Amino acid sequence: MPVIAGESAAPFVPADRSLPVLREAVQQCRGCELYLTATQAVFGEVESGNTEEPGQISIMMIGEQPGDSEDKAGRPFVGPAGKLLDQALVEAGIDRAKVYVTNTVKHFKWEPRGKIRLHKKPGAKEIRACRPWLEAELEAVQPRLIVCLGATAAQGLLGANFKVTQSHGEVQRSLMLPPIIATLHPSAILRALTEEDRESQMAMFIEDLKGAAKFVTA
Ligand code: SF4
Repeated sequence: MPVIAGESAAPFVPADRSLPVLREAVQQCRGCELYLTATQAVFGEVESGNTEEPGQISIMMIGEQPGDSEDKAGRPFVGPAGKLLDQALVEAGIDRAKVYVTNTVKHFKWEPRGKIRLHKKPGAKEIRACRPWLEAELEAVQPRLIVCLGATAAQGLLGANFKVTQSHGEVQRSLMLPPIIATLHPSAILRALTEEDRESQMAMFIEDLKGAAKFVTA
């Protein structure tokens, strides 16, 4: 069978914007070459799996791409970063059942390092190619607030010049999108070099999430 990789997910996104239909359709996406080396596409969801009721979802959290654990499980934020996110949500007082979590890019990009599949940052081409899926999720979920986890998600929605370190926790407005708050990606906290850095980044992350909670309950 010939290898086919296009330049956009658009031809693969169905007109029906219901989450179960989108979730099934994404497995057939050939919008870029990442599907070739990933186990499966990882679409967004709420923790309970209750994706049928987007009306109850107030926050959509967008990360970068699935990691090794997510690629195998077929679910977003189930690995170490997901556990840290769950902990931070509890501390910020956010009901996880009202949060839809997804990624900017739906297939895991990696490179081999011995027996390990090492995370590789998705490029601008892949981010652009995958955008129609994110737009379809936004249309289906209609969140009151987007929380971008890390620079890939934030710059994808707010422009390449957006700096999470400078503007994290602030409510941003962007044409045709719900309000956006950007903060750290939990993986960045896990990668902190010292315990001190990890603690201060975690505190900042929780503070930003508290801001998001305040925004959606105001
Ligand atoms: S990463 Fe996105 S655009 Fe590329 S094949 Fe996967 S779903 Fe399609």
